[in-house]
Amino acid sequence: MDQFTQKYIEGFMGDVIAKNPGEKEFHQAVREVVESVAPYIIENPQLLDQKVLERIVEPERIIIFRVPWTDDRGEIHINRGFRVQCCSAIGPYKGGIRFHASVNLSIMKFLAFEQTFKNALTTLPMGGAKGGSDFNPRGKSDAEVMRFCQSFMTELSRHIGADTDVPAGDIGVGGREIGYLFGQYKRLRDEFTGTLTGKGLAWGGSLLRPEATGYGLCYFTEQMLATRGESFKGKKVDISGAGNVAQYAAQKAMRLGAIVQTLSDSDGFIYDPEGLTEEKMAYVFELKNIRRGRIKEYAQKYPSATYYPGERPWRIACDIALPCATQNEIEKADAENLVKGGCICVAEGANMPSTPDAIKIFQGAGLLYSPGKASNAGGVATSGLEMSQNSMRQHWTAEEVDTYLRRIMSDIHAACVKYGTEADGTVNYVKGANLAGFIKVAGAITDQGLV
Ligand code: NDP
Repeated sequence: MDQFTQKYIEGFMGDVIAKNPGEKEFHQAVREVVESVAPYIIENPQLLDQKVLERIVEPERIIIFRVPWTDDRGEIHINRGFRVQCCSAIGPYKGGIRFHASVNLSIMKFLAFEQTFKNALTTLPMGGAKGGSDFNPRGKSDAEVMRFCQSFMTELSRHIGADTDVPAGDIGVGGREIGYLFGQYKRLRDEFTGTLTGKGLAWGGSLLRPEATGYGLCYFTEQMLATRGESFKGKKVDISGAGNVAQYAAQKAMRLGAIVQTLSDSDGFIYDPEGLTEEKMAYVFELKNIRRGRIKEYAQKYPSATYYPGERPWRIACDIALPCATQNEIEKADAENLVKGGCICVAEGANMPSTPDAIKIFQGAGLLYSPGKASNAGGVATSGLEMSQNSMRQHWTAEEVDTYLRRIMSDIHAACVKYGTEADGTVNYVKGANLAGFIKVAGAITDQGLV
């Protein structure tokens, strides 16, 4: 990279850091994009003059609100709610809601920023947003979760709508929470619209939406592997997380012939060298989604597995790693372990699970490496398909949705190859995804004038 570009990047980041102090996840997400798109911006001075990147890093609107609720004993709790509406240049705001104790403004802003590029990549007309709360659903009763969701939606409902902003699930927000949120929205607004996605099948949901992020991740990974004449067949796969994305990534990878050997939660991971089977997956679905249990119970049920408390799966040698838990869960030493263990491909199901140091290790070692905004876009893409079905008052078959999902993941892969192929013929998926997303959003921003 030439000195002028480097100076532009550091100057830009200096301004972002000064304006958004202490927001380290946001800085990290912005830097990754700026490093990818800076050469393009410098080659296209109208983007500099129009301050397009400056506009994208300043969210169009941030809503922060109080969420009061009472627990089952009648004690009052006060949480903080967020909705960051980052960019509506190519469609209504769209992005998930996260309930997790770690939620803060930095995490919300990084996720909304990433979502803007991801949504552009899907080829569907969706802007970028993210929301959530520092509420921790773990250990709460259904009634407590319902009261919290109702209180959260009482404020959020003023800021969303089918053509304005369409939230979905994320960490800590699955089918149960979307149900409570949708019920309260409908009650307050007296309208039955597609304002949330991830809905139940009987009330406007789409077939395959629960599966979409994990399945889409595997479809994308298949395409990455194919560039080197490889496939999932017979490959050892490490997966982190045991939630929505991890479960369906594991199921699809297993069905494509892989040996899925790990799953995890925030307490530790399980290693099953014999790999998951349909029967073991059925157990995991029941354990996590019905009983809301912990992954260590898997090792109690299946003697072939070992539970490692307080650790992440990356010490287990594998061919393919699919991080599907949370941000910054692969650090430098984890990346070095993966490379040492012979890993050939890392495809992100979570958002920003690899630290910048880890990404450098993967790219330096010549691994196939894809950022979440490309490889996990199947979830929001299928949410986009749910919005289409709601608008048309139609219900598509699972085969129809799967065909769309495969095509979208294939288009995203093609965009990464188009914009990310380096002089030596290798594909830099980070550069490809960032540049493809940026060019689309930047074009829409400049077309629409200074707003
Ligand atoms: P879930 O809440 O269903 O599952 C999250 C899983 O990750 C749980 O096993 C959880 O363990 C674990 N986890 C969460 N936080 C941490 C942490 N700090 N350290 C270690 N493990 C942790 O969420 P999803 O599966 O929906 O989301 C997982 C990732 O995928 C997130 O990064 C999300 O943003 C991303 N994503 C999700 C999409 C979707 O459609 N749901 C779409 C695109 C991206 P525990 O139970 O102990 O908290």
